[in-house]
Amino acid sequence: MTREPNVSLGAISKVVQNDPGLAAKVLKTVNSSFYGLQQPCSRLDRAMSYLGLQAVKSLVLGFSLVDATRGVGDGADLKRHWRRTIFAASAARHLAQVTKAVDADEVFACALFQDIGVLACVAALGGEYMPTLAGAPDDHDLLCRHEREVFPFDHTTVGAELARKWKLPDLLVESIRKHHVPDASGLSFPAMVRTTALSMYVAEALSTPGQPTIVSRLGVKASAWFGIEPEQVAMLLRSTATSAMELAKLFEQDVAIPDASMIMAEAQEALVSGSIQTQRDADRFKAQSETDTLTGVGNRRRFDSAFGDAFRDARENKRPLSVVFLDADRFKSVNDTLGHSAGDAVLKAIASRCAGAIAEDGMLCRFGGEEFAAFLPGFDGVRAKDVGERLRRAVADRPIDLSGVDGAPPTINVTISVGVATMESGSGSAIESHEQLLSLADQAVYAAKSSGRNCVRAASPAAKQGAASAPAPALAPIPAPVSAPSASSGAGHAAPQARAADSSRTLEAARSLRASDGVLRVLVVDDDPLAAKLLSMIFQRLPETEVRVAHSGASASAVAAALKPTLVIVDHRLHDTRGMDLIPSLRASVGSIVRAVLITATPEPGMGDAARAAGADLFASKADMSNDVSKWIHTILSHGGSAPASRAA
Ligand code: GH3
Ligand code: MG
Ligand code: MG
Repeated sequence: MTREPNVSLGAISKVVQNDPGLAAKVLKTVNSSFYGLQQPCSRLDRAMSYLGLQAVKSLVLGFSLVDATRGVGDGADLKRHWRRTIFAASAARHLAQVTKAVDADEVFACALFQDIGVLACVAALGGEYMPTLAGAPDDHDLLCRHEREVFPFDHTTVGAELARKWKLPDLLVESIRKHHVPDASGLSFPAMVRTTALSMYVAEALSTPGQPTIVSRLGVKASAWFGIEPEQVAMLLRSTATSAMELAKLFEQDVAIPDASMIMAEAQEALVSGSIQTQRDADRFKAQSETDTLTGVGNRRRFDSAFGDAFRDARENKRPLSVVFLDADRFKSVNDTLGHSAGDAVLKAIASRCAGAIAEDGMLCRFGGEEFAAFLPGFDGVRAKDVGERLRRAVADRPIDLSGVDGAPPTINVTISVGVATMESGSGSAIESHEQLLSLADQAVYAAKSSGRNCVRAASPAAKQGAASAPAPALAPIPAPVSAPSASSGAGHAAPQARAADSSRTLEAARSLRASDGVLRVLVVDDDPLAAKLLSMIFQRLPETEVRVAHSGASASAVAAALKPTLVIVDHRLHDTRGMDLIPSLRASVGSIVRAVLITATPEPGMGDAARAAGADLFASKADMSNDVSKWIHTILSHGGSAPASRAA
């Protein structure tokens, strides 16, 4: 009857009533301290409705399980098996209360049935199976391995197949099948399987005292799966030991309850050392996952989490907070000329020198590529600029040793550009978020780059004001257009203001490329329709701008003659010509061109120089465009003919 999914309590009740033995057991159960009734219950129907359908089902099945295996095999090993099962079933209920992750009755049944395969093996194989069972007395996990050595199956497969045949619920079938691989991925009922496994760890801890590894496994898994604290585990062991005694009586098994105080002492010790070990492992893992493997300083993840905390801290305590951001100068050329290993060695040296120079004042992290960032709690703008200068000197003052790099010169001179931004203690509210502070520092790096590199620039509050009162930016990052920010745009978002600063500079740069009639005329030559469309969309957002697209070298000349562009952007790989050849011919035929940019999706070493030799003002990679489109556009527009090669170059 219990196989029927919709069987009613009344129907079961009728059957149970006719079996005095079973009826007595149910009454005994409901009146046991296991259920903690205030007043004794003497009526079977009331007892059953009190227990609920699931509980009655699992009790009925549990009792029949006992009866079915009575007299199978020799006593000792089965006795141990029963003791463990009773501990597990009892623990399962307590675990359900602690975790609230599973239904107490369901997990009770899962725990009770998890090793039904063992009973089936005993019943079917008898003497053939007993030595295997006896061979793994302490660690039940070992039993599966022993079984597999002798038989082509283990008790989990046998038990699960049996449960399936009996049409027990899927959750029970899976718990039986997987309770020895609770960490497996793709479980259908992970919480149930893991609670079942935990119940067995509790049972083993209680039935084989003196095994600290078993208790500590319990502690580690309880914490990892359900966040159960060591103290809760200790309590769980104690309450399980007590209620197991009740349960044992119900199942008419005599279960010697271990000396609770002794187990507790052992458990406490094992749990403490176990949790210390776990903590140590967790710390080590965290340290690894937050360390940059090349340079050994913190990585971006480390920076983001620590910086966020430092920012909140500074705001709350009204203390200043500064950020320094640094970027290696013309670092790409180190890679290009000396190879990647030399580049790596330089990055390591920069990291170690800068970390040394910052020392206790802050924490240096590798922000990405050849960029590093550090924040300086308590540092106002003046002191932060000093630190920036210290970093700059630490790198520039003496050459970096490359003697360990094959094929490289013994040393190389490297410089960095440093940007500093500060949230002063008084004007704390002007800066809304740590992202905003960081973005100001990033902009300061740009300023340092355009002032000739190897220098320190601070983001000045004036620049921020200017940005805030700038005209509505016509250039916005794609695909999220940014509306005009106002000085008091206070919703706690940094990006709009930072973008506005970018945009106002970009607008200014665009203005300088306008023709004498005040219009910026852009010709985009790209046979990749998507890239062409993207580029024309971007430029169309600028005010007073006219954009035309040509999809081949041949049409480019005609469009250029009609448009008279001031800015031409030419893809290198056109199907009918090379961009590098097209640029000089456009320049010769159209006098209006102020700036010619060669772009490519597949940059190669030496291409930049060749492009410049062919008359391009700038050479840019399309990959950089997709990384940060507004930065890319800014680079293209602001690249002055006299300024040193830009970042994109
Ligand atoms: P700028 O002065 O304008 O910053 O010029 P730059 O060449 O330093 O800047 P750009 O951003 O154009 O080039 C950065 C280069 O850093 C490109 C990339 O190949 C290199 N890079 C990034 N990460 C690593 C790394 O881990 N190892 C090495 N060897 N190179 C890296
Ligand atoms: Mg650089
Ligand atoms: Mg860079």
